[in-house]
Amino acid sequence: MSRPRKWRMVCDMPSSKWFGPLNRDSLKPELCMSIEEYECIRLIDLEKLTQEETAQRMQVARTTVQRIYEQARMKVAKSLVEGFMLKIEGGDYELCDGKQLLTHCGSCHRMGHGHSQD
Ligand SMILES: [Zn+2]
Repeated sequence: MSRPRKWRMVCDMPSSKWFGPLNRDSLKPELCMSIEEYECIRLIDLEKLTQEETAQRMQVARTTVQRIYEQARMKVAKSLVEGFMLKIEGGDYELCDGKQLLTHCGSCHRMGHGHSQD
């Protein structure tokens, strides 16, 4: 039996899928970070949202955000401290198209229409 997939709403994709030490003498295998893990870091650490707000944005339970965020932070820490490459791709996500009526994200990079900023 298969669990139903829960799609996590994501508003922005990473600018690059590879991150890591710039000196190439690291022979560590890469760590895979999912797109939703990346999104948790972006929303919580960069946009300063609470886990509750992040859960609403991504349309998942707060406990799910907490778990994803912990995994994401661990990977960032391993990369910084131990020199792992991060490869950001995959996951169970759906890219926000800026038309989410119920959870209007407000900062979605895909909102190409209605540029009037008053
Ligand atoms: Zn959005």
